[in-house]
Amino acid sequence: MSEDTIFSKIIRREIPADIVHEDDVCLAFRDVSPQAPTHVLVIPKKPIPKLADAGPEDKEILGHMLLTVKDLAEGLGIAEDGYRVVINTGQNGGQTVFHLHMHLLGGRSLQWPPG
Ligand code: AMP
Repeated sequence: MSEDTIFSKIIRREIPADIVHEDDVCLAFRDVSPQAPTHVLVIPKKPIPKLADAGPEDKEILGHMLLTVKDLAEGLGIAEDGYRVVINTGQNGGQTVFHLHMHLLGGRSLQWPPG
């Protein structure tokens, strides 16, 4: 059983979010603490806690999320200049919300390596 998180509450509309996309599989909303001019989170409606918990049965969900990120980048006008997609996983990965999510970051030049 996965824990209920703030992202599950956003899916259920129990807390507000600036939602930019929703379909049967995933939800996308702006990060409350943006690290770039465009910073959107894409989450599956299925509450997979972290990437390490995903299994073969989640293949379609993960592929769908990634293609949604690509479409969002185009729709939000950051695709041409480029952008970054990040999945923080577990403690060393810097994950703070244990409902799998992809960060879509763009609108400025991003540095590498990350901290
Ligand atoms: P991570 O550190 O990869 O787990 O990322 C969690 C992200 O969720 C952070 O970038 C937070 O700023 C973001 N976040 C936390 N609570 C909310 C919220 N209520 N609405 C939007 N973004 C949130």
